[in-house]
Formats: sequence, structure tokens, C-alpha cells
Amino acid sequence: MFRSTWIWLLLTLITHFSPGQKRPLPVIDMHVHALHANDQGPAPISVGAPFRDLGINDPKDDFRKVFMNALKTNAWSDQFIRSPSTDDSLRQMTISILNQYNVYAITSGEMETVREWKKASPNRIINSIDWTFGLAKRNGLTPDSLERLFKTGEFKVFGEVSIQYEGYTASDSAFEPYLAMAEKLDIPVGIHVGCGPPGAPYIFAENYRARLHSPLHLEEALLRHPKLRVYAMHAGWPMLDDMLATLYTHPQLYVDLGAICFMIPTKEFYYYLERLVNAGFGKRIMFGSDNMVWPQAIEVGIQNINKATFLSETQKRDILFNNAARFLRLTQKEIKDMH
Ligand SMILES: [Zn+2]
Repeated sequence: MFRSTWIWLLLTLITHFSPGQKRPLPVIDMHVHALHANDQGPAPISVGAPFRDLGINDPKDDFRKVFMNALKTNAWSDQFIRSPSTDDSLRQMTISILNQYNVYAITSGEMETVREWKKASPNRIINSIDWTFGLAKRNGLTPDSLERLFKTGEFKVFGEVSIQYEGYTASDSAFEPYLAMAEKLDIPVGIHVGCGPPGAPYIFAENYRARLHSPLHLEEALLRHPKLRVYAMHAGWPMLDDMLATLYTHPQLYVDLGAICFMIPTKEFYYYLERLVNAGFGKRIMFGSDNMVWPQAIEVGIQNINKATFLSETQKRDILFNNAARFLRLTQKEIKDMH
């Protein structure tokens, strides 16, 4: 009996860990950041996964300190994930989760950091350009220099475009030349539309405004550039009606589920996602984790999609892979190689 148990154990080990083992079905994460370990505050730092409460403050206190303290003590969350302590461990842990879940990640950050990550995992990392007016000024990322960069083929996506933090919408005339460049080169654009951290203007982004969460602000940009491939990151949460109206009116628009898939209370995430799907937009929702310095966000995000009882298996696969493959216009060969 003991002997047969050993044989069974051995067989289990071989089937579970043999190199020829079948990989999980592929996932495309449209929203990964290649950051430094200390970019969200001194590491290690926690984040609610999900938060139970989104911001509580007595105005006599400095919200920046209150927010950092809530992250440190997990005062606003029952479940949380902790960041790795060093740049190397952040990169390694992220790549290890990408491998484990067979994830291909649209990854943005400082260009040199993205290049390091790409070097560490050439198959899994798809380079993207982080962009704000501030970054453009500091790094000289003008429409011309970006055009030259995109033409090399090294970077495949233009995003995250985070100008909402600077008080701009994508329809602002100042952003116009960048959209024209992306449309001309047929580069997909990911635009932050929706939630930053709670209380963003009190923490670091003084021009951030709640009204800029609305995807209705994308309209003029979309109409001026009808050939452009655009996705609204964070699915414009929490502006549900505005998001539905914008998706209905602009059939080329996609969304990703960045941050909302792991960070906001799960009941609210499911309510929001179910409404988007019920309204008929299940083919235009893409998985995105918005992993910043918490690689497990990718894991929690995928699990939350897979655990959603209101989604069929087909709808889950659409969100986790098929919709992004269509949006990115992957070839049959590229899709096959990802399996
Ligand atoms: Zn964002």
C-alpha cells in the first residue's frame, strides 16, 4: 500500500511538473507598469486587494499622510497584497506570475526600465510608451521623436497616457498632434479614463478632477481620428452611464479593467462589469491589471474574472484574451504561439 502511494505520488509529480506540461490558456494584460520598487512610496508597501473603504479623512489632517498610513497599516482593507522590496525582486516576481498564468503584458514605464524587463522576458513583455505632458517635457517625447521611436518597432502601444492627472482630456487641442501621429502609424493608444488613487488631488495630482473620470471626454478625439485604435483604461470607472453611452456611440472603442479588477470592492467591480457585459459590450472589454508594484494584482485580477458567476466561459475567454487579440490585430500565428 505504501509502495503504491509512492508510485501515485511520483506520477502526480511527473504530470504536474514535467516540462511538456500544457500551459494555462493565454491571457493578455493590457495594463502593466514597469516601475521601481519605491515608486509608490518606500517599499514594501501594501494595497487593498480589494480595499474595503476608499478614503476616510478628517480635513484637519493631511490626506497624503493619511493615505500613506492607510497603505502601511491596511486600515482600509481586509485583504491586501504587499510589494517586493527591490527593483530586481519586483521585476522577477512580475515575470514569474506572467509565466505561471501564461500572460502577455503590454508594459509601460521609464523606457530604460521597460527595456530591462523586455530583456528579462522577451516573449512576455510588449513594450509600451508611458506618456504625460510632464514626461514629454522632461524626456523630449514630442510627436516627431515618438514617430521615429514607433517606426523602429521597439514599442507597440502608446499608453498609459495619463494626462487626466494633469487636468487634460484626450480631446484637448494640446494632445491633438499625438493622436494624429498614432492614427497615422496605426499605433494603439491606451488612455487613462477613470480612477487614480482615492483623493488624487490631495496626494500628488493637484489638477486631477472627478469630472475627468468621464469617458464622454473622449468623444471629440475619437471623432477627429476615426481610424485610431483606442482603449479607455480603467473602463471609465465609476462613470457607468457615460461609459455605456460612449461605447454605444463609438463602436471602435475598447476598455480595460485596470485597477478596478483587484482594487475596488469586488461587489462593485462585479456590478460594473456585469452592466457593461449585459449592455452588449462583452466583445470590447479587455483584461488589464494596472499592476504597479504589486505583481499579485495580476493574479487577483485574473482570478476575479474567472470567479465571476455571471460570465460564461466564452465571455471570460473574450475578456482575458480574445478581445485584446482582436484589438491588437494579432495574426493567427501569433495567437497560436501564445497557447
Ligand atoms: Zn491609469
